Amino acid sequence: MLVDYNSLLLALGVSATCLAVTLVGSWFSRRPDTFLLTCSAGLVPIVGGIFIYGAYVDRPRPIFAVLTFVLLFIGFATVWVAGHQFRTRRLSKIRFLLGCLPGIAVSVSAMLVGYDGLAFIGENVVISLLLLLTAREYWLSRHEAPTPLYGITALYTLTAISFALCAAMLIADGKLVLGHAPDNWAEDFSLAVCIAGMTGIGALSLALHQWRQAALHRQEAITDALTGLLNRRALFDLHGGRSFGPSMAVIVFDIDRFKTINDQHGHAAGDLVLKFFGQDLSAGLRASDTVARLGGEEFALVLDNTLPGRAEQVAERVRDAFAARTISIDDKYLTCTVSAGVATGTVEGVGFDDVLRAADKALYEAKRNGRNRVEVAAYLHAV
Ligand code: GH3
Ligand code: MG
Ligand code: MG
Repeated sequence: MLVDYNSLLLALGVSATCLAVTLVGSWFSRRPDTFLLTCSAGLVPIVGGIFIYGAYVDRPRPIFAVLTFVLLFIGFATVWVAGHQFRTRRLSKIRFLLGCLPGIAVSVSAMLVGYDGLAFIGENVVISLLLLLTAREYWLSRHEAPTPLYGITALYTLTAISFALCAAMLIADGKLVLGHAPDNWAEDFSLAVCIAGMTGIGALSLALHQWRQAALHRQEAITDALTGLLNRRALFDLHGGRSFGPSMAVIVFDIDRFKTINDQHGHAAGDLVLKFFGQDLSAGLRASDTVARLGGEEFALVLDNTLPGRAEQVAERVRDAFAARTISIDDKYLTCTVSAGVATGTVEGVGFDDVLRAADKALYEAKRNGRNRVEVAAYLHAV
């Protein structure tokens, strides 16, 4: 070999350390993404295990091997937990225990009774399985960001195969007692794959992190933070360029005397009322319907493929549900009402702006006619 085994181990240890530091750095920029932190936490014992294994290669004392096994199992179990956390956003303690205890039990006890060959077979098999389980987690998440996730899955699988090859070589050798660190082409190959895999997995994990952040920013840009509904921009992005036919309708809602609610009960109470109205508005809608907060206490509902008269029914249902709701604030109860204006597209087709304007006019009529009511845009009757 051009480079000796210990130098390669050193390279692996250094690259794992750099990766751990980079992942923690990225985690700092977006803390909710804790899988990066868990992944770095897994790399720390792996680095420790790599360096102690280096000592074992020079001086094969059982204690070095035992420490290596314990650290590597803890590390790879944590890396698996990080993959599971990426997919589910939950930290699984049971996976951690399942990941490290069986390996520790088999390899450490085999090493302590002198069967070092058996201990290394156990170590390679368990690490290979843990890496496959980690690959599975990223594979199951592949819809989120296909390119980096296919790459990460492939690299974890390749690394798992390299450990499986190490186990296969030891099994083929048939020696339960070695007296030194395993030394065959599979070990060298595995080390090279680990170095390449570590670099690739590190780069792709960072790409994945960026990908998630960009998706989150896109989501935030189209969402109203208070109600969780789409915002005005998203509504116009979705419908701004469409021509509204007779089977499409827009309903605009405006909460009645909302300023008084704020004045009498405080802004926080007003916010609560807005959230509840958002819930009433979203209840019982079809997947093709769009609900958005236009701003302040104004909301819009766009109905697609709807039969004549349905838009008024929907508006009435929402008005009714909201009027029937009792909202408790501190020790007081309050009820609120909402007015709505409905406008439908025309046979010739009409732009979203025009339908929205017509619905706004109808809303104004509803306010003029006493509030807590639904009015339909006049031009609808002329169609
Ligand atoms: P009308 O029945 O004619 O619609 O009367 P109104 O009081 O509902 O209408 P107006 O437009 O006079 O008042 C709307 C109020 O909504 C004024 C503004 O302070 C309040 N508002 C706007 N956005 C928010 C918000 O996000 N939270 C809270 N709590 N209040 C808001
Ligand atoms: Mg208003
Ligand atoms: Mg209002």
